[in-house]
Amino acid sequence: MNIRIGNGYDIHQLAAGRRLILGGIDIPHEKGLLGHSDADALTHAIMDALLGALSLGDIGLYFPPSDPQWAGADSQLLLAQVYQLVTERGWAISNIDSVVIAERPKLKPHIQAMRDRLATTLQIEPTQIGIKATTHEKLGPLGREEGIAAYTVALLHKHE
Ligand code: MG
Repeated sequence: MNIRIGNGYDIHQLAAGRRLILGGIDIPHEKGLLGHSDADALTHAIMDALLGALSLGDIGLYFPPSDPQWAGADSQLLLAQVYQLVTERGWAISNIDSVVIAERPKLKPHIQAMRDRLATTLQIEPTQIGIKATTHEKLGPLGREEGIAAYTVALLHKHE
């Protein structure tokens, strides 16, 4: 078998006094995501999709929130470590596709920067990374701006 698929999901609470970082991009907003690391829900969903594709567990296994060394960690560094687990096993990313659910702020102006940043971290082309942003139509906790969530699927292929 020379292709594998994985999916990932993450959600973080929005809180005052935190930076809002999604896909490695600092987004101006009056609240940010709460978490042990930089709480980049999009990047965490991508990490879980990559790990899931190779049945390597989840990010909690590699970067446990109980471990103080990951406090405030830059999730781009964590993503690079996860992708190393993928490449050292002879696999590469075909494409990644994500949905970010945020009632506010509008993410559209930041999507290209996120794709570029993630492509740099993963050493792939921005055209291999799809990111869509949607609201939650004011429904539930996401619709009340209590948090931001992200879903990702990742397709891997075996290196020749
Ligand atoms: Mg997370």
